Amino acid sequence: SFRAMMITDVEGKPKAGFADITQADLPEHEVLVEIAYSTLNYKDGLALSGKGRIARRRPMVAGIDLAGTVVDSSSPDWVPGDKVVVNGWGLSETEWGGYSRYQRLKPQWLTRLPAEFTAQQAMAIGTAGYTAALCVDALERWGAIRPGGGEVLVTGAAGGVGSTAISLLAAKGYTVTAATGRPETHDYLAGLGASGFVARTDLAEPGGALQKERWAGAVDSVGSTTLANVLAQTSYGGAVAACGLAGGMDLPASVAPHILRGIALLGIDSVMAPQDKRARAWALLAAHLDKAKLDTIARVEPMSNLPQLAEDIVAGRIRGRVVIDVTG
Ligand code: NAP
Repeated sequence: SFRAMMITDVEGKPKAGFADITQADLPEHEVLVEIAYSTLNYKDGLALSGKGRIARRRPMVAGIDLAGTVVDSSSPDWVPGDKVVVNGWGLSETEWGGYSRYQRLKPQWLTRLPAEFTAQQAMAIGTAGYTAALCVDALERWGAIRPGGGEVLVTGAAGGVGSTAISLLAAKGYTVTAATGRPETHDYLAGLGASGFVARTDLAEPGGALQKERWAGAVDSVGSTTLANVLAQTSYGGAVAACGLAGGMDLPASVAPHILRGIALLGIDSVMAPQDKRARAWALLAAHLDKAKLDTIARVEPMSNLPQLAEDIVAGRIRGRVVIDVTG
């Protein structure tokens, strides 16, 4: 048997806890993967702390990401020994996820681990980092940003999405400004490549529908009033990639930036993103993400620390990314 972090119903309420399971308990999907590492994302924090209803089926093995090696497969697409990564696809929501030594998965959920990364590095990137890459890819394809052009703003900068977005944008030659509520992270963020800073509070108060034009584009992981202000500060023809809700699910905004400045609001979903977008995002990371910077972004923690780590990420206390060793 092996240990998994599971969400079960206790007195009618979802509750997270460790359970010992065997391979016979796993779902009947075609590919059996031995997991090397999983990771901690904001959504994992919501699932484990019970602050968000993430696990829609229970019992549920939590963990939205995993990286490991195929050990058994009845699919022609995968053979034992293949190194794979899985991000999203309903893991921890409707499908059993990565906080486990083994998992059975559908072949179409697996992405080949890029040769540039180890399983540990892939989980240092995780859904947060791969979402950052989806955001950068969307902004570039829209044509809103170009290296050496105007500044790109990243909100929730010291978090997982934010840290990876800064690192990736800086490596591609963009001028990056970081919006953070933690001034003590400025040195860390400058090390990743941020050259300017905005205080989180400066974006948190409701402002005018059209403000001074400051950003060619932005990656927003905060939402709510922050996103409304970012839209109002984006320069003519620019775009904002919105991927997060760390500051709230609402959007108290005006159409003015869209209809008077042609600003685009690009919605980013990582969970059900089709494989072509995933492939582009992982290729972007493989080509540009600095491995030394990735090491400063991420740290490894044993699975036994998940309950505390979940509380920490929901409270905004985690810097960068946390990789989870599923054997620990
Ligand atoms: P994270 O590591 O917790 O980062 C979130 C960051 O947001 C925090 O580090 C903090 O940055 C900032 N923040 C926290 N609370 C805030 C508040 N009340 N007001 C303003 N800023 C606040 O989480 P993550 O894993 O990077 O995820 C970031 C967001 O993206 C989450 O909302 C997550 O659900 C979302 N997400 C969405 C997708 C998708 O598919 N669309 C994929 C991945 C993540 P500072 O300390 O620097 O201010």
